[in-house]
Amino acid sequence: MAAKATTTIKQVLNHQAEHGAWFAANQALFNRVTAFYFGVIQAHEKVLALSDKDALTALEKLTHTTQSNPTPVMPLEEILEDIPALFRRAAINAALGSARSFSSHLQQWRKRKEKAEAKGKGFHERPPVPPRAWNKSATLYAGMWKERAGSSMVMKVWTGTCWSWVKVRIIGRDLPTDAEIGSPQLIRRGNQWWLHTPVEKQFKSPGKIEKQVTTNAQTRMCAVDLNINEHLAVCTIQTVEGTILATTFIGGGRRISGFRKKQLGRIARNRSKTGIIAEGEQDNADLWRKIRQVDEQVAHLVSARIVQFAQAHQASILVFEHLGNLKPEKGKYSRRGNNKRAYWMKGRIFNYAKYKAWHIGVITSRVNPANTSRECHRCHSLVIRYNAGERAEGYTPGASLVRCSHCWMQGHADRNASLVIGQRLIARYQTPLKEKPHAPVRRAGREEKSSGVALSQEAKSKSRPSTDLAGYGESNEHGTAQDGLLRMDERLSDIPCQLRLPFE
Ligand SMILES: [Zn+2]
Repeated sequence: MAAKATTTIKQVLNHQAEHGAWFAANQALFNRVTAFYFGVIQAHEKVLALSDKDALTALEKLTHTTQSNPTPVMPLEEILEDIPALFRRAAINAALGSARSFSSHLQQWRKRKEKAEAKGKGFHERPPVPPRAWNKSATLYAGMWKERAGSSMVMKVWTGTCWSWVKVRIIGRDLPTDAEIGSPQLIRRGNQWWLHTPVEKQFKSPGKIEKQVTTNAQTRMCAVDLNINEHLAVCTIQTVEGTILATTFIGGGRRISGFRKKQLGRIARNRSKTGIIAEGEQDNADLWRKIRQVDEQVAHLVSARIVQFAQAHQASILVFEHLGNLKPEKGKYSRRGNNKRAYWMKGRIFNYAKYKAWHIGVITSRVNPANTSRECHRCHSLVIRYNAGERAEGYTPGASLVRCSHCWMQGHADRNASLVIGQRLIARYQTPLKEKPHAPVRRAGREEKSSGVALSQEAKSKSRPSTDLAGYGESNEHGTAQDGLLRMDERLSDIPCQLRLPFE
């Protein structure tokens, strides 16, 4: 059932001479930071009882200086200030791996010793020792590299004196186009530097969400917050263990809303004219068609952008929230109509995204929408929501900024909601024991319905999603993949990079 196979693609780097020294400095720093964290773990062995995600959180709390954590016990700053978060996390995970391995060797040794002693035998085996020297290769998490093309890449390295983006040429086997690309490692072999990239090939139907979430902490989810304001969709990529990798804002909401409002206003004016009803009706039919066409096209473009973003970041799960009920609006006909259509469009974006995602082996799910906007993605306290330039207090629905007075998280409100949506899916499969130690201080309102809730239909289904797109233009191109076999080389190639609204 596992629908993935992992291999490593090894490529030689062709770089300027001085860059070799930078890569060496970068690797030396990576090892210093890894060794530092190994030491922190040895001093706080309880960390090893935690999941990788929680251990990461705990270790950052012990070492990383922030506004809410001004005096960590063992500050990483003592090694170097301003180490990028993703460099730090890669080193933490490397240290955790080594510490877990060391700890399990030590436990096995103790068991053998006890056994021997219980039998009255002599025991002369030496205990395992922690690594004396560190020679790990730096892993480049997404964010530490960019612009990866067939024969070049740009990566961020420590040069020995500063952080710098470096462009390198890549020689050797190309990355397969039909695979998910993992975090590359920068590896030294003699005087030569290599890039080792894990790739995961996917085939047939995607794995069940539960399995993906419970067996692989590196599973990436793309969570989507759909809105009726300017940002029609805000998508975030995060791993099951909680690393946030990317965010994208898909805009255009104001323009589509303005367009619709104008047409609806015309329709309303036509309706109010008496005596020329017949003419007006024909007129309105045209206007309605225009609105429908634009809504349809926008839903396709936005859903395509969502899936494209998920694919670019190797997400294997797409998460939305359930739509909830349409709240009746007061006001003018154009306003009410606009609101209703925006609501419908959210449903359409979801359906199209689910359909498109399924065709590239990405499975879609939905979570309880209760208070996703009111909860802090970091500590789950209630957030303050406010507009830029206003005082940060209270809760203004629809405002663009949030701040958490508990953990001092602050940022874009829709991005926060998107992260919460993703976390709800993970929470569904987490046993209470695995919850964060500093877990939900207070949940905003209703809790996500307990983990006993059955998987949503789309999560269970391995067959085609039920969405019936017959009659819609874009469905035809997928017609060849009906058996569920993914034609990865064809996927999404025809989706434009820029979201151009059809009436521009
Ligand atoms: Zn918080």
